[in-house]
Amino acid sequence: MKKISLFILILFVINSLFAQSETKELIEIIKTNPGVYVDVVVNSKPEVQKLINDCSIERWDVKNSNEKFIVKIWITQLDVQKFIDKNIPFSIDWESIDSELLSPTLTMATTVAQMASWNRYPTYSVYLQMLSDFQTNFPDYCRIDTILSNTTKNHKILAAKIGNLNDNIQNKPAFLYSSSMHGDEICGYVLMLRLIDYMLNNQSDPIVSAILNSVDLYICPLENPDGTFPTNNNSVSGSVRSNAAGYDLNRNYPEVNQSQMPTTNIAEINAMLQFIQQKSIIMAANFHGGAELYNYAWDYWTTAQLQHPDRLWWIEIGDKFYDTLRNYSPSTYFNDEGGVTNGGDWYVVDGSKLDCLNYYIQCRDVTIEISSVKKTPAANLPNYWDYLYRSLLHYVYESALGFSGVITDSITNQPLEALVFVTSHDNNQSCVYSFLPSGKYHRPIKSGAYSVTYSAPGYHSKTLPITIFSDSLIIQNVELVPTNHAVNESFLDPYITLFPNPSSNFIIVDDHSGTTALKVYTIFDIKGNKIYESTNSEATITIPLNNIKSGIYFLTLKIENQLVVRKFVKK
Ligand SMILES: [Zn+2]
Repeated sequence: MKKISLFILILFVINSLFAQSETKELIEIIKTNPGVYVDVVVNSKPEVQKLINDCSIERWDVKNSNEKFIVKIWITQLDVQKFIDKNIPFSIDWESIDSELLSPTLTMATTVAQMASWNRYPTYSVYLQMLSDFQTNFPDYCRIDTILSNTTKNHKILAAKIGNLNDNIQNKPAFLYSSSMHGDEICGYVLMLRLIDYMLNNQSDPIVSAILNSVDLYICPLENPDGTFPTNNNSVSGSVRSNAAGYDLNRNYPEVNQSQMPTTNIAEINAMLQFIQQKSIIMAANFHGGAELYNYAWDYWTTAQLQHPDRLWWIEIGDKFYDTLRNYSPSTYFNDEGGVTNGGDWYVVDGSKLDCLNYYIQCRDVTIEISSVKKTPAANLPNYWDYLYRSLLHYVYESALGFSGVITDSITNQPLEALVFVTSHDNNQSCVYSFLPSGKYHRPIKSGAYSVTYSAPGYHSKTLPITIFSDSLIIQNVELVPTNHAVNESFLDPYITLFPNPSSNFIIVDDHSGTTALKVYTIFDIKGNKIYESTNSEATITIPLNNIKSGIYFLTLKIENQLVVRKFVKK
């Protein structure tokens, strides 16, 4: 017995000595590297969840073998001490540092010409040149926007706006693709550039042409340039997960479940939030590596805890994304978690981008993991393009489906910023708003029959039924009546007719409600200027229009607290 105890004691001492040396090594590595991956072995899913709550872990890096869980954790200077304090055994993943030498497959393009076959990674300067060339060569269809002009390591976060830029259509549905917020998950970096190139050079492809004309598409190929090029702008071999300060950008977005969006001082995140709101972006996807799947809201809640109201819509469009790529990829591709999953059902994470965007700023973002290998060998990039590009294009067009329309003031016809709320369906996070200057709103939604309430401060709300069909767009324009026009449309409205419309020299207003009360007739022009008023109790009156210019006008007829509004056209 004693012998065995002694043996265990010796083993324990060796183990802890080993752990001490591993800890020392970890501290040394962190001093000279942006970060490092370590592997930890735990025995149960709850233990994995606990690690995920505290550390930077790509959920899909958790491997299950022999009832043990091997968890790969990204450690930076920010959290190294916290990790050491946990006092858990770990081993350093040496391949994740000095990877410059160990990644001969990450062939770089040092000129734009070398990107011709899309089987290389562009250096940072080639990347900038490519974006600039797109804009120069296709000025009517591509504009480069700046999301963040200067990061800690003097990089830019840029987005190409792709669409018909000269059609003067305001507030098309805006969509954002972005890649590599984890700087070492780089397959999407090249695929996004290739998507821009493909769309600009294949404008007659029906799906491309549909997008160019009906969507404002933004593509940000490099969302965390300090992570992708931490020390050397000419190689992605040394790319790391976090930003320059050591933050995991997909774990540090403002947390959900607060009454107001918490603030953050991480520049990349603030710039992205501002950009999405400024451009009124309604749908988005961010690309990752390390797994292959489509991950919809929520990340913070499991399906059992809280379902997103549009969960079935997400499953439907996720399935479409999956079905399309299934036809063009090996059967082994894109099958993690069945290909389409709620994030929290795998492991719950806090501070994810998609949760924040969905919860606080009405942007329907998803995470798409496109390559099981984070640093995809450059020679394989064309394969991934071929698997995915059709899915990528069709997915963008989902933002132009569902129902949409313009919300205006019923008196002045001015566009309004209004809330569009699907009754018995939306909760506060899933509603949409109409945008100025156009008053347009866009509500992608699963097919079905709904009741929709439109409301704005200072206006009477209006609830209307709507039926949505698969793969189609229903237009529902809505006029809201100002509250200072005390209105009870239901009583008088059906009895009032106005004709002829369009009219030339006069209009006749007929009231067959039988009321003998005094009625005030007022005509407003489209800017809300009053140009005619009279008071009358007759059932039928004729209003001369000889002195009125051609255009659109509104006639209001008021009896006590009743108001009826009619739009007419003077030829
Ligand atoms: Zn990732």
